[in-house]
Amino acid sequence: MKEKIYTIPLNEAYETDCECPLCFLEKKLEEEAIEYTLGAAMMEPDFRIESNEKGFCKNHYSMLFSKQNKLSLALILETHMEEISKSLDSLSKEFENPSQKRLFKKSSESNKIDDWFDKNNSSCVICDKVEKTMKRYIEVFFYMWSHDKEFKNKVISSKGFCLYHFGILFENAQKYLKKNDAADFLNIIYNKEKDELMRINEDIHKFTLKFDYRNKDMEWGTAIDAPVRAIEKLSGYIHIKNSD
Ligand SMILES: [Zn+2]
Ligand SMILES: [Zn+2]
Repeated sequence: MKEKIYTIPLNEAYETDCECPLCFLEKKLEEEAIEYTLGAAMMEPDFRIESNEKGFCKNHYSMLFSKQNKLSLALILETHMEEISKSLDSLSKEFENPSQKRLFKKSSESNKIDDWFDKNNSSCVICDKVEKTMKRYIEVFFYMWSHDKEFKNKVISSKGFCLYHFGILFENAQKYLKKNDAADFLNIIYNKEKDELMRINEDIHKFTLKFDYRNKDMEWGTAIDAPVRAIEKLSGYIHIKNSD
């Protein structure tokens, strides 16, 4: 396949011992996008136009804020806030109409103000950037599953997926695979996922047993990081902060 730009990272992800290789890719893309936003993107007018308009979600603001480069962050915030201010001005017409008709529509009807807040609260230039590349990875994942036996074996012997990406694969299998191939694929990953969830469940149980003083000499084994792996299996990767 020509598109080594996608196949190489997918193969690399499958060589990593992780609970979800798709999360591994997504996390990498997210980290690269954060670095890019505070670095090279400062000189990229197209990206700046997009980030001024869309802004970022809470998760990505938090990641941007955790980095050292506060000047880049402040410059991004400054121009985004200018854009927000202009965009807010366009809503003033909604208040100028004394009938208030447009302002207080029934809850089932959308109005300009609701639309504005919906858009403002849900748009994020980094989410969009990551999602766009992840869609390509999903497409290439199915191409490789059908055409690359070695890759297929890697998937079969992996630890499965987080439930989020498990769902994405379910949604897309029929789009990218022939009917029978899709049924085979879903059967394989469904059974794998059940086994992998049971494996983590057993680790979680062992983790709880370690808190009983009678088991203080019991080896942790693979149970030592069971809570974080269980969360990552259930919801996708998380950004772990050091606890107190
Ligand atoms: Zn995942
Ligand atoms: Zn985001």
